[in-house]
Amino acid sequence: MKSIIKIFLLSVALCGVANVQAKSKPNLLVIMCDDLGYADVSFNVQDGVEAAIPTPNIDSIAKSGAKCTSAYVTYPACGPSRAGFMAGRYQDRFGFCGNPTYDIHDETVGFSLEEKTLAEALRPVGYYNGIIGKWHLGAVKDKLHPLARGFDEFYGHLNGGHRYFPKDLKIKDPYSAPTSAEAYKTWLLHNHKAVLPSKYLTDEFTDQAISFVTRNKEKPFFLFLSYNAPHAPLQAPQEYIDRFSHVKDKDRRVYSAMVSNVDDNVGRLLNTLSEKNLDENTLIFFLSDNGGKVKKKPTANNGPLRGGKSNPWEGGIRVPFAVQWKGVIPPNTIYDKPVSSLDIFGTIAELSGAPENRGRPLDGVNIIPFLTGQNKGIPHEQLFMRKHAYGSYTIRRGDYKLVIDKQSKPELYNVTDDISETKILNDQMPERVHELNGIIKTWNSGLKEPVFEGEGNASAKALMQKVKGKNRRPN
Ligand code: CA
Repeated sequence: MKSIIKIFLLSVALCGVANVQAKSKPNLLVIMCDDLGYADVSFNVQDGVEAAIPTPNIDSIAKSGAKCTSAYVTYPACGPSRAGFMAGRYQDRFGFCGNPTYDIHDETVGFSLEEKTLAEALRPVGYYNGIIGKWHLGAVKDKLHPLARGFDEFYGHLNGGHRYFPKDLKIKDPYSAPTSAEAYKTWLLHNHKAVLPSKYLTDEFTDQAISFVTRNKEKPFFLFLSYNAPHAPLQAPQEYIDRFSHVKDKDRRVYSAMVSNVDDNVGRLLNTLSEKNLDENTLIFFLSDNGGKVKKKPTANNGPLRGGKSNPWEGGIRVPFAVQWKGVIPPNTIYDKPVSSLDIFGTIAELSGAPENRGRPLDGVNIIPFLTGQNKGIPHEQLFMRKHAYGSYTIRRGDYKLVIDKQSKPELYNVTDDISETKILNDQMPERVHELNGIIKTWNSGLKEPVFEGEGNASAKALMQKVKGKNRRPN
């Protein structure tokens, strides 16, 4: 009997060793949506409440692994948020403080040449890197194009958004588009070659992702599947719009259709990973680059969160976030402590042994030990956000969040007890306000001024100069 137990224990131990070896240099799949609302994935809808947009496939990522309920991005809009993710460092550290305009000549308008992208970090440790979909980190062909920034393959668009149906893509050469608005109408780029997609963009991008995974299943890969959905323009295939015929508002109906289409496509890609036996050696992150848009009318649904895209409130920066790593992260994990999009870089850098960002400290950390429960501490003492042109700052530290926005006085909230940011606690906790203001000030002193103006920021700055409030900056 004893020997049977010994053999059993030995085989468990050996399996453990094999497991660890198989887990070294896992593939990394990052699926990023664009402007997706916090409650527009059903895994963030309260138990017992019917989800407005069912997303069973996206939910399966959270169910097979973890959902992070307090996950933050580093900016409430596309470009800077993506720059932070791609660097594993606050983008304000390198002056990426606004959405880059579509500029094919100016190499300063995009991801700093002095920084290292996640792809550039992973390449020396043997990763094969692909990006499919939206780039938005610069449009200078030989300097800022994904192939110049560590990626081996690119299929997508350099601009911040794109029209979804091939019939609308009237401009063949993406580099001939004179403005960001015109760049929505170009053909796509397959590496450096202009190509006319044959399908609705989300379907097309997923086909490409399936091809990438299938072709590269033998090597460690990093695939950044960067859907532009459900970012404007609101366009969806009719059969998906028909799924939401009960939704009265037309924009909400089409938006829901776009998200449902993303979900079906995520399902197709996950099935491919399973078929290729890549499930256990692929670390998957699903997130949105910023909160859902609710400004004029609530097209997206951020659930209980206040505000949405562009705002420093939770609706702008707290996003849907799920992580799957089968065999490592226990299924149905719910993780409530604050994590960040910066942690994707931090996690894979540590797992793969990739050198850090040219010797400069990463702001992201490896969150796997936290998600598995091995580390009971907190991944971050605090997380920040700065909107330079708007004089807007936030800090989340523990349960508390301080928001400095435009001309208003700093406002302190307890976002654990009061997720909707309704009760200002300044009067009750002046010392906390002072403390958090001081931490923001110290953080801000290590940041750069904007390297490029950023779309719309000139008018924002002009407006700010007219505002005479004294508390626009940390003081
Ligand atoms: Ca976005």
